[in-house]
Amino acid sequence: MTAILVLNAGSSSLKVAVFDGDELLDEASVEEIGGTARLSSGSEKVPVAASDHASALEHILSTLATRGLWPDRIAAAGHRVVHGGTIFDGPCRISPEVLCDIEKLNPLAPLHNPVNLAGIYALAELAPEMPQVACFDTAFHRSIPEKEARYALPAEAEALGLRRYGFHGLSYSALVERLPQVSGGKLPSRLLACHLGNGSSLCAIKNGRSVATTMGYSPLEGLTMGTRSGSIDGNAVLRLAEEMGLERAGDILNRASGLKGLSGGISDMRVLAGAGGDMADFAIEHFCHSVIRNAGAMVASMGGLDAVAFTGGIGENSADIREQICAGLTFLGVRIDTHANSDNAMGLHLSDAEVGVWIVPAAEEWTIARLTASCLA
Ligand code: ADP
Repeated sequence: MTAILVLNAGSSSLKVAVFDGDELLDEASVEEIGGTARLSSGSEKVPVAASDHASALEHILSTLATRGLWPDRIAAAGHRVVHGGTIFDGPCRISPEVLCDIEKLNPLAPLHNPVNLAGIYALAELAPEMPQVACFDTAFHRSIPEKEARYALPAEAEALGLRRYGFHGLSYSALVERLPQVSGGKLPSRLLACHLGNGSSLCAIKNGRSVATTMGYSPLEGLTMGTRSGSIDGNAVLRLAEEMGLERAGDILNRASGLKGLSGGISDMRVLAGAGGDMADFAIEHFCHSVIRNAGAMVASMGGLDAVAFTGGIGENSADIREQICAGLTFLGVRIDTHANSDNAMGLHLSDAEVGVWIVPAAEEWTIARLTASCLA
């Protein structure tokens, strides 16, 4: 028994992967939990009855059982938990006290932590003896200095937990481990990491540690995203809430803004790129500009730039977006080979460029498996 079961629970989805060391043995997921749920595994997609995360997990484990993976080969489970607040700065073996701490953080991540907990409880019910580990998306950013973490708010607001936590930390940890494998060199000392997907953020990584990041109190701050506005003046948020009510304002900022809001309905970058028209083009331009202007802040935070790394669905696959972003970073010494870029090659920089530019495929589940194994070792 050496394999690790990795669980990534979203609001209406549950993704599970099984790793043995670095090898991915299998993966399966259930989408639209509580609605028209479907189980995907391999190329198959079948409707299932899954009213909650516990029933979704049972379907997934039965599928893994038919392949001889569950329960016999599983030594432990690792969970993605979005918010670790200021409590967790690394993976943590789950105990009643740890569960209590994660629950305390629910107000900071009301859409995420409760479903992450649902996955943990469901597995504990089915396999009470199995060691479980929580791996936090915020933990990688616990190294950011206080002047980066604090908003300039008085103590009474700070006491509510209103500070910058940063997210996509599991993706950035994977990137730090994988970039040397991709580049064949050592980790660059001042690295601008760009996680560009439906949710997008940047991270300034100095000597392997996060020193600044664009997401803040929640995953809403920073870049223009698929459906999230990114950074916006607090007074504009207050005005929106005053005019539309709190709930609708929250809905607009999180689910109707970003590329979707600017383009008139399209949040998916690939669809947007094929759509054409002024609104679609402007949405793409806005996205790239938000990356460029925030990159300036990240580079200033780490005192210069040695390399840029792209990850996430957009970062890994869209040559046009990378080209626009890199063009805006020429003043920092970023110069890419257009052929390597259109081929989605791993190394994109010109051979005589001062700054390395790399694509590092996202590997959050792989990181969770590694963190889980190391936490239990
Ligand atoms: P999530 O944040 O949900 O994990 P992903 O990292 O999977 O998202 O990224 C999804 C985004 O990547 C979508 O906007 C999708 O259109 C975009 N994407 C994937 N492939 C391409 C491509 N070839 N060109 C442009 N965008 C792409």
